[in-house]
Amino acid sequence: MTIGVLGAGQLGRMLALAGYPLGLDFLFLDREAGTPAHQVAPSLLGSFTDPALLGQLAERCSVITFDWENVPSEALDQLEARAKIAPPRVALATAQDRLLEKALFAQLRIPTNRTQAVDSHADLQRAVRDIGLPAVLKTRRLGYDGKGQQVLRKAADIDKAWRELGGVPLLYELHVPFDYEVSAIAVRGQRGEFAMYPLNRNLHKDGILRLTRAPWKSPTLEAAARRYLRKVMDHFDYVGVLTIEFFVCRGRLLANEMAPRVHNSGHWTIEGAVTSQFENHLRAIAGLPLGSTAARGHSAMLNLIGSMPAQQALLAEPGLHLHDYGKAARPGRKLGHLTIVEATARAADIRAARLLRRIESRKI
Ligand code: AMP
Repeated sequence: MTIGVLGAGQLGRMLALAGYPLGLDFLFLDREAGTPAHQVAPSLLGSFTDPALLGQLAERCSVITFDWENVPSEALDQLEARAKIAPPRVALATAQDRLLEKALFAQLRIPTNRTQAVDSHADLQRAVRDIGLPAVLKTRRLGYDGKGQQVLRKAADIDKAWRELGGVPLLYELHVPFDYEVSAIAVRGQRGEFAMYPLNRNLHKDGILRLTRAPWKSPTLEAAARRYLRKVMDHFDYVGVLTIEFFVCRGRLLANEMAPRVHNSGHWTIEGAVTSQFENHLRAIAGLPLGSTAARGHSAMLNLIGSMPAQQALLAEPGLHLHDYGKAARPGRKLGHLTIVEATARAADIRAARLLRRIESRKI
């Protein structure tokens, strides 16, 4: 069976690497050559909306998925009549627009942050009055890793935030004084089977995920996350992996955003779970039985951002798993990640903190 994938980044690469042992083949579509997935699988090169390329994809693939959230809906319009798409388009369209995403959370009674749409300077002033400060102004579409966001702390920040972001549809939301951030990743199969991975606790730096620890043991939060993921996935009759990122405020979850795909905070599942998020996404969209989402030990995943530490030094660390995405170094760019799996949470915490310190001080 050949799986078609729109977008050939590192998530696509890890999907392919997880699919080969199952005997799956892949065909990617992306704009340029040499992408992380193109290095390991055949790729069609060109525009996401090129009818000839989309035609080839539909003809050669049994099911089409995406590794990138901002796939143009025009591409899916062209594919829809000719190919099976999973996860469902409507889930992707919702995740592409922060306003629709927040409206969905509200509709499903999933606690979320107070937000207001902003399309003009006057709207922004009204939002500051209605919701208050401090707050975050975000582009409704195309934001990622903290890009397209401005924090407003005082009234004098209004004009600057408008100058930076104004002109595209925006969303104003209260700046949440969260205690920490977690994400929940679940998979749903074609017959509605559902399984959730243990919670991940995530540490961001400059808006980019830096460190994930899993399992994050909190039975109450995990039970709430399970209910929320189930609601969203049943609502869409979802097939594949879905992630929701939450703020934890005074012991409660507040949904921030969702990703209708495998997620950076789930990379630890490659070595730290019985079945990885990548394999389970493929099993779901290919109509195969889902694999166990149970953790094996206590994992820490560190993103390698901007520059790659020396491979010699990293691999000298016992039991360290290195994933190099084959990308050119650039400030702020995710170039790879590493995972360690330990017998106890404390051992994983100590080792992750030590590795992070050594990487940040460029000792490795
Ligand atoms: P997002 O693109 O919404 O995931 O935002 C990236 C990161 O910025 C989040 O993981 C948080 O660390 C931070 N952030 C975003 N929105 C808020 C908010 N309303 N309050 C506090 N921090 C936020």
